[in-house]
Amino acid sequence: MQTLKLILGDQLNAAHSWFQNIDPEVCFVMMEMRQETDYAPHHIQKVVAFFASMRNFAAERQSEGHRFVYINLDAPDNLQSLTENLSFLIEKHDFKHFEYQLPDEYRLDEQLKSFCGSLKITSEAVDSEHFMSERHELETFFKGKKTFLMESFYRAMRRKHNVMMDDDGQPWTSQWNYDADNRNAFPKDHRPIEPLIFDKDVSEIVSMIKKQDVKTIGVVDEKHFLWPTSRAESLELLSFFTENCLPLFGKFQDAMTTQGWSLYHARISFSMNSKMVSPLEVIQAAITTWQVRQDEISFSQLEGFVRQIIGWREYMRGVYWAKMPDYQHLNYFEHKQKLPDWFWTGQTKMACLKHSIQQSLNYAYAHHIQRLMVTGNFALLAGINPDELDQWYLGIYIDAIEWVEITNTRGMSQFADGGIVGTKPYVSSANYIDKMSTYCGGCFYDKKLKIGEKACPFNSLYWHFYARHEDKLVKNPRIGMMYQTWKKMDADNKMAILDQAEKHLKNIETL
Ligand code: FAD
Ligand code: SF4
Repeated sequence: MQTLKLILGDQLNAAHSWFQNIDPEVCFVMMEMRQETDYAPHHIQKVVAFFASMRNFAAERQSEGHRFVYINLDAPDNLQSLTENLSFLIEKHDFKHFEYQLPDEYRLDEQLKSFCGSLKITSEAVDSEHFMSERHELETFFKGKKTFLMESFYRAMRRKHNVMMDDDGQPWTSQWNYDADNRNAFPKDHRPIEPLIFDKDVSEIVSMIKKQDVKTIGVVDEKHFLWPTSRAESLELLSFFTENCLPLFGKFQDAMTTQGWSLYHARISFSMNSKMVSPLEVIQAAITTWQVRQDEISFSQLEGFVRQIIGWREYMRGVYWAKMPDYQHLNYFEHKQKLPDWFWTGQTKMACLKHSIQQSLNYAYAHHIQRLMVTGNFALLAGINPDELDQWYLGIYIDAIEWVEITNTRGMSQFADGGIVGTKPYVSSANYIDKMSTYCGGCFYDKKLKIGEKACPFNSLYWHFYARHEDKLVKNPRIGMMYQTWKKMDADNKMAILDQAEKHLKNIETL
């Protein structure tokens, strides 16, 4: 064997050109390592999902005839570090050439670049053949601009890949954006569809993780593991989504309820982020379903879905590569508050946070609006340190990989980048949460009150946030109205609201 080719845990792309021919001179290597399990406390379901998917991927390629070295976490010769394992293998088998697919994470990219620089054999980095944009395409697209408008990039992506476009270069239906049609709450008594669950026994992997004493968070039902861990299961989940959820996806994509946890969302982010399915095939599946069932599925449902994937997902990746490594330290509001302990348990009297956090601990999943307008909203209003928050989001979700986690957390959710991703901070009082969810009805706090023991903390923290960051926000044209309202309020009332917010912040652990 002459060449060693590395496949990282999130590079499970069976359609990659590497696998199109069997080459007896090539050996692939995959490894489970403490380096990856320990850089943040991950949800147990996330660790299991990655290891199970990696093992399936290796077994499938081996059965096709590819040569593989697969290093289990508990293998006696596992050195638990990417570069140490690679060095050991190169020396042991006398490889003459080393190749890897470009990683999506900055830290791994740096690690592999420096490793290759130290090698005495030749090496090469190749594309992972997954994304619809190049690593630095967004950076070039917005060259010289301070803010990166997602909508412009999304339209460029649709044009580039001819997605839902007419021959004359216009979007189908002549309308690019259907966001305004896609913001409904669930009608009373609406019961969302039950999710497709993969009922697998993963007890062997769980027991290995426990024996190795890997620190994890959340719970796992090891006899009935629910996430897809192979390409076949990922395609099954995709098909379940297009058939059953797409018709209501856009309409209810912002809705929150205690009646279910996945609602009409695709839950396809883990399959895509691990590259078991490609963004192009995901949107093609949705487009094909819509074409066949146009009488039942409105175009706004399809557009809403496609926008998330070739818009937001590609955009976030582009921002990451344009702004790392500085991005990981941005803290525009200089927030320093410690993350409350109840973020790790869900033990809070605030029903919206309790439900969103407990659901995350149970399923390693919360949908976008729970992440943005419940946990993220509270953290921003309370001034939580974005470093601590990043660790939380990076650990708790099944789909959390830094390139998409950090841009969503620091950028979209915390405005810690000062407005590269978002044009204004996503904050709200109880009003929005009540409008979009069923949470407030069952809450200890009163959604209408700003002051008093029973007052919903969001209501006073909301004004406290605007008041404490007036210098940074007052000139933002999208926020001006807020400051007009604040200025018109009675001075005593304003003082009482700010005092109440201070009390909440002081007692944040017991909220
Ligand atoms: P659906 O609602 O069904 O959407 C379909 C797909 O669109 C998703 O699978 C995803 O690939 C893509 N998508 C939607 N919104 C975004 C977005 N804002 N950025 C990038 N892709 C998007 N997504 C991750 O994949 N990993 C993360 O670590 C992550 N962290 C987040 C942290 C915060 C604070 C916030 C606000 C959002 C985060 N997101 C993250 C984005 C989004 O919440 C998830 O992609 C989505 O909830 C995944 O569930 P789904 O597959 O059911 O998505
Ligand atoms: Fe959340 Fe406030 Fe509503 Fe309670 S009242 S669920 S804390 S928004």
